[in-house]
Amino acid sequence: MTGTDLTTATTSAPAAIPGQATPYQGDIARYWNNEARPVNLRLGDVDGLYHHHYGIGDVDHAALGDADDSAYDKNLVEELHRLESAQAKVLLDHLGPIGRTDTLVDAGCGRGGSMVMAHQRFGCKVEGVTLSAKQADFANQRAGELGIEEHVRARVCNMLSTPFETGRAAASWNNESSMYVDLDDLFAEHSRILGVGGRYVTITGCWNPRYGQPSKWVSQINAHFECNIHSRREYLRAMADNRLVPQAVIDLTPDTLPYWELRATSPLVTGIEEAFINSYKDGSFQYVLIAADRV
Ligand code: SAH
Repeated sequence: MTGTDLTTATTSAPAAIPGQATPYQGDIARYWNNEARPVNLRLGDVDGLYHHHYGIGDVDHAALGDADDSAYDKNLVEELHRLESAQAKVLLDHLGPIGRTDTLVDAGCGRGGSMVMAHQRFGCKVEGVTLSAKQADFANQRAGELGIEEHVRARVCNMLSTPFETGRAAASWNNESSMYVDLDDLFAEHSRILGVGGRYVTITGCWNPRYGQPSKWVSQINAHFECNIHSRREYLRAMADNRLVPQAVIDLTPDTLPYWELRATSPLVTGIEEAFINSYKDGSFQYVLIAADRV
């Protein structure tokens, strides 16, 4: 095949996902297009902030009430949701000072809960990308219902190759979405879109290099979500290689365990709870926040 043939073949192929490069990303798009677990939707229905991530903080047992009480199920859903929103708040706390005229980028935005929270807090513009058309539609519809569609927008796009201008974003983040991509490619793209002095934040599960290799629990989590959990070492190395200098590395593992232990007792279990709890407890897996400066 000549160079010209190759160019023609590449550009004429219809791209279902802008920036899509791999069949794997097609699998992930399908996964999230089909995702409608009650643990995500019922929790989002509490106040209209739809998250696809986990929670942090102490469980409020007084608010939960007694397990025999008829209100317990409803209280449980509200409590799990409160902890998930608390997680997003901690991520936003690490973005640094953000002004109303700034633009933020949510890489792997899901149904957009974190984007809405970011706009409500900073008054700024928030651009999100997801592989799932269903999620992007959901997020945009929700922004429309809130009357913030001028400020909050989700689009279907590969986060490794976004349409955003070079150096224009004040901050960007991955909230539980970095385990679907190569970290060098991911941080190269964040580094491109962030202005110098901008802030990058991720909250993610990562395997602990102190344990040695990914444990059987970590392998189970990978299989369950069709993802590829990286190690803490890989995060720090890929950041260093892409002009992202960690300003804070926070181990949120002790803060997320109460959420998992509560969830494991609930009717909303998905079957993966034991793998999270066991791997957090045996030290093979960690829930971390890393905030880095783009230099
Ligand atoms: N950050 C959201 C959603 C997390 S779920 C939240 O906190 O609620 C993981 C998300 O990563 C999904 O929306 C999925 O579409 C997205 N994702 C995975 N790989 C991606 C890629 N290459 N490009 C864009 N989005 C991706």
